[in-house]
Amino acid sequence: MVKFCPKCGGLMTPRVKGGRRLLVCSKCGFEEEARIKLTLSKRIEHTEKEKTVIIESPTDIPRTTSIAKNVECPKCGNTEAYVWIVQTRAADEPPTRIYKCTKCHYSWREYE
Ligand SMILES: [Zn+2]
Ligand SMILES: [Zn+2]
Repeated sequence: MVKFCPKCGGLMTPRVKGGRRLLVCSKCGFEEEARIKLTLSKRIEHTEKEKTVIIESPTDIPRTTSIAKNVECPKCGNTEAYVWIVQTRAADEPPTRIYKCTKCHYSWREYE
């Protein structure tokens, strides 16, 4: 994709300056932060260590999720929810059970 300088209409060429990607005008030297779309989607590595990793927002369903049919969604009353267990911040704290409604995707947690 070719970009033109908003100031003089000159051709903007990509440069790396101080670790930042910039587009620099070949005519007047106007600089602009280059917003390069990452074509690679974030790669999630599953290592042994990550199994006890802290989940800040428990909204993403891990691959090991099973479906619980004996629960009730506090939001819509659906009785099916994805369930998985996460280890909380401190190692001496009990693990937390995360539920996510299969219907409305509301998620809630339950301490063991
Ligand atoms: Zn320019
Ligand atoms: Zn629900």
